[in-house]
Amino acid sequence: RYWSESGLDPKVLAVIAKVGYKDPSAIQRQAIPIGLQNRDIIGIAETGSGKTASFLIPMLQFISELPKLNEQNMVHGPYALILAPTRELAQQIEQETLKFAVPLGYNCVSIVGGHAVEEQAFNMRNGAEIIIATPGRLKDCLERRILVLNQCTYVVMDEADRMIDMGFETDVNFILDALPVSNLKPDSDEAEDASKMTMAIDEESGKKYRQTTMFSATMPAAVERLAKRYLRRPAVVTI
Ligand code: AMP
Repeated sequence: RYWSESGLDPKVLAVIAKVGYKDPSAIQRQAIPIGLQNRDIIGIAETGSGKTASFLIPMLQFISELPKLNEQNMVHGPYALILAPTRELAQQIEQETLKFAVPLGYNCVSIVGGHAVEEQAFNMRNGAEIIIATPGRLKDCLERRILVLNQCTYVVMDEADRMIDMGFETDVNFILDALPVSNLKPDSDEAEDASKMTMAIDEESGKKYRQTTMFSATMPAAVERLAKRYLRRPAVVTI
């Protein structure tokens, strides 16, 4: 009943039923409604909590609302980016993402070390709604213009503390700086009430807003710094 009352698109609900998740986990119960309001989130949760689906489900809803806005677009995405510290975690996230993305007809491409850049470029040839990437390789691809993230307005940084530990802070900053600006203006009074800000355009800059979620098991200073720089009025979710 939780799912059917969540306000999700019937197509997304059908996929959750198909995947077989009868009840949401604790982190999903907390994070999904906030994600569906297009708010930024800091999630403090470990692997095994169901955190992947807690950002995937609002992401799929977000993407499902986009095509109407993008009918005229020749370039096909990517609309969502998931950053992970290691190839192994990226693969785990990809497995979980494919369960949902394939039945919805969304293409998901993984950009990680260990595979030729040419192969990843080839996988991108038909476009992709969702990119799952490790920071070093993605930065490389952005610098070589293998992909452009100017339509990417839903971003997840998974295991942010591990990305910092592994020395990816500069790469993560480079990538986030290449993306459209944050979804909410800093210090805007309307921000608290802002419900549906999907693909809104900032009148001054003309840039699209972005929704950003960060997961971390711990919050050292460098992770706080990332959050301060790239998230706007994040809701903090802990389990
Ligand atoms: P994660 O913490 O995202 O790595 O997820 C841990 C495992 O729990 C994965 O194998 C998921 O497929 C599974 N899982 C996530 N959410 C649910 C749910 N609501 N019901 C049952 N299993 C789930």
